[in-house]
Parts: sequence; structure tokens; C-alpha cells
Amino acid sequence: MTQIDTSKVSRWDQHGREHVVRVHRTGVQRTIRCGTCGWRRRAQFLPWLKAEEHLAEAHQATVDPTAA
Ligand SMILES: [Zn+2]
Repeated sequence: MTQIDTSKVSRWDQHGREHVVRVHRTGVQRTIRCGTCGWRRRAQFLPWLKAEEHLAEAHQATVDPTAA
């Protein structure tokens, strides 16, 4: 059985480095936090989209390792 881990978003940059944003849930609130730079924000809706945006803008990390 394949299970998708939705508690984090990982992307690779052009140097092959992995950047991970983790999604924490507290009640109805979600907090996302970048493991590379410590950036964090609250995102009630679509936290994974916000995580992807951060990874692309801050780290130029746009390669999805799970999309191969
Ligand atoms: Zn970051």
C-alpha cells in the first residue's frame, strides 16, 4: 500500500540539496516551518501550496523528488 506523507513538503534545488517544509497541525490551525532557514507561518488553508511557494522563492527548490 502506498501512503503519501502529507506532513511535509520536500523539494530539491538545482544543486541537488533537499529542502523540507514541515506541516504541523494544532487543532484547526496549521503551522508550516522550513527546516533550511527557519521560516514559519500559519496557513489554515493549503499549507502545502504555501510551502511550495516558499521553497521556490527562498531556495529556488522546485524539483519534486516524488514526481520522478
Ligand atoms: Zn526556507
